[in-house]
Amino acid sequence: MISYEQALSKLLSLVEYIDVEEVNLEEAHHRVLAVDAISSRDQPPFDTSAMDGYAVKKIDKVPHKNLSVIGKVTAGNSFARSISKGEAVRIFTGAPMPKGSNSVLIQEDTIPLESGITICEKFEKKDFVRKKGCDYKAGEILIQKGKILSSFDIALLASMNLPLPKVKRQPRISIISTGDELVFPGTVPGPNQIVASNTFGLKALMKKWGATCHILPIARDNKLSLEKALEIAVPADLVITVGGASVGDHDYVSEVFRNIKVEYSFYKVAMRPGKPILAGKNKGTIFVGLPGNPVSALVCAHLFLKPLIGKMLGTRELINIEKKAFLQNDLPENGKRKHFMRALLKDGYLEVCKNQDSSLLSVLQKANSLAIREPNEPPAKKGDLISYLELD
Ligand code: AMP
Ligand code: MG
Repeated sequence: MISYEQALSKLLSLVEYIDVEEVNLEEAHHRVLAVDAISSRDQPPFDTSAMDGYAVKKIDKVPHKNLSVIGKVTAGNSFARSISKGEAVRIFTGAPMPKGSNSVLIQEDTIPLESGITICEKFEKKDFVRKKGCDYKAGEILIQKGKILSSFDIALLASMNLPLPKVKRQPRISIISTGDELVFPGTVPGPNQIVASNTFGLKALMKKWGATCHILPIARDNKLSLEKALEIAVPADLVITVGGASVGDHDYVSEVFRNIKVEYSFYKVAMRPGKPILAGKNKGTIFVGLPGNPVSALVCAHLFLKPLIGKMLGTRELINIEKKAFLQNDLPENGKRKHFMRALLKDGYLEVCKNQDSSLLSVLQKANSLAIREPNEPPAKKGDLISYLELD
């Protein structure tokens, strides 16, 4: 059996280039930027007033000085003349500074006169001028490729006048549940049946990580049914099966993958949960067989599919990063396989859940982290530093 690290690196090496598309800004939220966003203009494009008040020459900002007001300028317009000493132009926020002016006297610091203003005894010394290019300058890389676009990125792209950002195409993923015992939610389960859950959790996760997913009809525990499901699963960048991946008499995934010419990358990984995981590739499609137990399937998705989708999208933001926290409870010696234990991180302390059975969705639902135990690691005590990954 190979280690988790070896399996992950083999899986990531299967990734091919995913193409680039242009999307409207309104559709760009959470998409991955495919090329650096470079500004072609200065922002603001001209010196602009930051306040409502009077544009003046800075040397005229003297207590009790009278200034004659020679006109006004509003946002979106300009003032035709240049101003001279002793003159002021009424100005509003966002309006370009008139030629000859270099400071704004805020209106609260002035007293109106018949043909002008007088400056109050006390006034704000600041200029209240936003200089050309003070936000950003033409030629600057403002957002690097590989960034998952946030709402603030979208606003920045809009201000740069980039209405059609280039983003990575969303990977297309097909998910197939396998099992005679499964029905979809909303169906009344027959005797001995349970409701398929993994599939829906998987779809939600992968949508969040930037892929588009289709849940296909449930494949039953026979080769023909699974082959048919796999036929409609392609074309796709990634096909995921859930369940049927162990070595039971009714586990057909590995055999059927082989029948449809999936070239194996690995089968079985020395980890808990999720030992019976397999992956391979046929033409441009990556195939991953996840274990059926709900916790195993969803934890393996975090450990394998999140970075896989990240690599497809060309972003580093989906790489799982190990962090450290203090243990809240004692742990026994670990077994031979690397163990990813469901845990709850609270106030810097990591409480490892008591029951680690891989069928317990209710435990996973309360967890927010995976405590990491290396193979054969000695017992750990409350207060020890332990590595963990965040679940999201
Ligand atoms: P398997 O890997 O097919 O042996 O399945 C292991 C366990 O996971 C069995 O108890 C299955 O009933 C359960 N299981 C398999 N697929 C799903 C699914 N999509 N949703 C919920 N439980 C499942
Ligand atoms: Mg099964």
